Amino acid sequence: MALQQQPDFDVIAIGAGFAGLALIHHIREAGLSVRVFDKATDIGGTWTWNRYPGAASDSECYYYCLTFSKELLQEWQWSVRYPGWEENLRYMHFVADKCDMWRDIQLNTEIVSADYQEDTGHWLIKTAQGDAYTCKYFISAMGMISEPVVPSIKGIDSFKGPCFHSSRWPEEGLDYAGKRVGIIGAGATTVQMLPVTAETAESVTVFQRTANFIMPAVQKTMTPEWEKEIKENYNEIIAKCRNHVFGMAFDSPVGRTIEDTPPEEVQKILEEHWPRGSFRFVFETFDDLLTNPESNRIAGEFVINKMKEKVNDPEIAEMLTPKGYPFFAKRPPLDHGYYEAYNRDNVKLVDIAEREPLVEITETGIRTTENDYEFDIIVFATGFQAYTGAQEHLAIRGRNGLLLRDKWEDVSSSIMGVFVADFPNMFMITGPQAPFANLPTSIEQNVIYILDCIKKMEGEGFDVCVPKQDAEDEWVAHTAEIHAQTLMAQGDKVHSWMMGANLKNRKPRVLIYFGGANVYYDKMRDSAAAGFPEVEFARTA
Ligand code: NAP
Repeated sequence: MALQQQPDFDVIAIGAGFAGLALIHHIREAGLSVRVFDKATDIGGTWTWNRYPGAASDSECYYYCLTFSKELLQEWQWSVRYPGWEENLRYMHFVADKCDMWRDIQLNTEIVSADYQEDTGHWLIKTAQGDAYTCKYFISAMGMISEPVVPSIKGIDSFKGPCFHSSRWPEEGLDYAGKRVGIIGAGATTVQMLPVTAETAESVTVFQRTANFIMPAVQKTMTPEWEKEIKENYNEIIAKCRNHVFGMAFDSPVGRTIEDTPPEEVQKILEEHWPRGSFRFVFETFDDLLTNPESNRIAGEFVINKMKEKVNDPEIAEMLTPKGYPFFAKRPPLDHGYYEAYNRDNVKLVDIAEREPLVEITETGIRTTENDYEFDIIVFATGFQAYTGAQEHLAIRGRNGLLLRDKWEDVSSSIMGVFVADFPNMFMITGPQAPFANLPTSIEQNVIYILDCIKKMEGEGFDVCVPKQDAEDEWVAHTAEIHAQTLMAQGDKVHSWMMGANLKNRKPRVLIYFGGANVYYDKMRDSAAAGFPEVEFARTA
C-alpha cells in the first residue's frame, strides 16, 4: 500500500444532526479538517425531517442537548420540558451559529457511495450530483432512526391527495384544518401526531395493527426557578446521564425489585412515579421490569389500567389494550393527550389486525375488508429501518468491495456499534449493537471514543485502523447473550423495530446492546485506555 496522496479532508461524515455537530466540534479540537454532508435542506437530522404536528423529543430538554460547551449549556433557554421540532431545530441552529460550524457543512447533498481504497487507505465518497471527495476517516453520523419504511400496500400510488411518510411531512407545511386525515400506524409518531391534528382536522382515523403500552409524558413549561436549578447543576446532570443505563438524568432504584417488594408497596411506588412522566416510570421504579416476566406483567397491567381510566368507550379501550407481548418489547411511546383524543367525536380507531384488515389504497382513501374510508390526506406513520437503514441506503464498500448491506444480510454485526470488520478507517455513531439510550449522551460518548482513536492514529503516525474480526465476533455474541436475557427479545413477535422485526423479507436480529448504556460507555473508555485492542493499526510507509 502506498499513501502518497493527501485526501481532500481528514474526515468526511454524513449527517448534520446532533452527531454531525458534535463531530465538527471534536474534530476541530483535534486540529483536523472535516466536511459534513447532509441530503436535507437544513441541519437538525431528526428535527429537520420529522416536522409532523406534535413532533417533540421524548427526552427531557435539559439533557437532550450537546454538553461539550459550558457556554452553550448556560446560554440556551428551553421553553418546555419536551421541546417540539421547531424549538429543537432552533437549538441546533444556535449551536451551529455560536460555534461557527456552517463552513464545514454541505447541505442538499446526498452521498450515494463510499468506497474504501485499498491502494491509498482512503475513502472515496461520491454525491448524487456526481462530485467525488476523498478522506482518511469516513464516519456515519446518519442517525439511528432515520430511514423511513413505507409498507407495500396495493394501490399505494393511486391516492389523489397528499400521501407521505410521517418523516416527510411537507417542509412548507400542510394545512389539515377542516380536512379528513387517515394515519396508518399507531407507534410513537402517531401518539404525538393524533392529539394535535385532531384539534382542527375535520376527522382523524388511525389504522392500528398493534396496540402499545403508553406512558404519560407530562409536559411542563420551563420556569425561571427550574432553569436556574438546571443551570447550576449541569456537571451533576451530565454525570448522571453518563452513568445511567439509559443515558438519561434519572435516579436508579438500585436493586429494588417488584419480586421482593410487597404487592401493596409495589402499587404505591408505581402510583407515585406515574405522574412524574417520561421513561422514569420504567427506570426509577424497579430494577426487574425488563427482565422478570411477572414483574413486567404487573407493571404492564398498571399501564393498561391507567389507559382505561382515560378512554371513555370500553370498546376503544379494549382495542387500545396491548396484548400478547411484554411491556417494552416495543418501544413505549409517551402520551401528550393521545388517549383523550379517542374521546373526541372526530377521531376514529380502526383495528386492521383482526376486525378489518387493510385491502388497498384507493383514489379517494383507504379500503379495508369492511369499509371504504374517504380522506383528504393520508400519512404513513409506519416507522423506520432502525440502526442499519441509513447505512444500507447508500453503497458503502469496504475491503475487497464488500458491501455493508450484504455483510449485514443476516447479522448486523459491529464492534460496539462503532467499528465493522472489513471496513478500515470507518466509524459509526450509534450503529447497530450500540445501546438504545438518550441519543445526545450516546452520540457524545461515541464521538469522544472515535476521536480518541483518530488522535492515536495521528499522534503515532498510523495510516489505517483495521477492526478485528474476532473482536466483532465477541461483541456480537456478547450482545446476543444479554439480549436473550431481556424481555425485549420477544420483540420479534410484534414487529418491533428494536429487532428489525418491522421489516418484511428480513430476519429479525439483535440490533441493540442491552447491557446498559453506562456499562457500554465504560467499555469504550476502557478500550481507548488500553489502546483500542479491538482494532489493528498499520503504517504504510
Ligand atoms: P413505529 O413505532 O415503528 O410504529 C410504526 C407503526 O406503523 C406501528 O403501529 C406499525 O404496526 C405500523 N405499521 C408498520 N407497517 C405496517 C403495515 N404494513 N400495515 C399496517 N401497519 C403497519 O414507528 P414510529 O411511530 O415512527 O416510531 C419509531 C421510533 O421512532 C419510536 O419508537 C421512537 O424511538 C422514535 N420516535 C421518537 C419520537 C420522540 O422521541 N419524540 C417520536 C416519534 C418517533 P405494528 O406495531 O403492528 O408493527
